Amino acid sequence: MRLLVVEDDKDLNRQIVTALENAGYAVDKAFDGEEGLYLGETEPYDAVILDLGLPKVDGVTVLQGWRRAEKTMPVLILTARDRWSDKVSGFDAGADDYVVKPFHIEELLARVRALLRRAAGHATSELTCGPVRLDTRASRVVVDGNPVKLTSHEYRLLAYLMHHQGRVVSRTELVEHLYDQDFDRDSNTIEVFVGRLRKKLGVEIIETVRGLGYIAAAPAKV
Ligand code: CA
Repeated sequence: MRLLVVEDDKDLNRQIVTALENAGYAVDKAFDGEEGLYLGETEPYDAVILDLGLPKVDGVTVLQGWRRAEKTMPVLILTARDRWSDKVSGFDAGADDYVVKPFHIEELLARVRALLRRAAGHATSELTCGPVRLDTRASRVVVDGNPVKLTSHEYRLLAYLMHHQGRVVSRTELVEHLYDQDFDRDSNTIEVFVGRLRKKLGVEIIETVRGLGYIAAAPAKV
């Protein structure tokens, strides 16, 4: 899952980005509305954290710009305390959720998880695919009750496929959603990660769809 954080307060931006990266997401960052607007229009994010008080272009205008460009990713806005009218204009502009500053980072993480799973049509923070269970709160994976240790890239790959299970996901889409902007992207590495992931999971839940990509699906019961 790839996220964008638009926040002009450098310390807060870094805090949020670090927490999200530690939680297993690929994260891009912007420090003003102009940069944020551009990134949100040109890059495919799974969710965005958007401060409303931003230099150059304010957050509500940024959000309106994205929605006008038919960008439908979930957006969580950061608002100042006691600015109820900000929340109203934020929701009217197309926000999906909000957090009031100052906030606990755990609350922000929980809201991001909720946005991501709702966007993908899941009801809980635990995703299941056959014998594989993925706990998005703890970033942990269990197969038949046994914990499996994955690297952050393997985890991201599995989480993305499981959020979108039953749908074919192309290698290009995976590259776009697993790596942040600054990462040296190479779609060949996806194949390597899929190979390692299959080996570690020890069960066949990731199928290769020749020429199209990969699909996560529960193995058929024999
Ligand atoms: Ca601000």
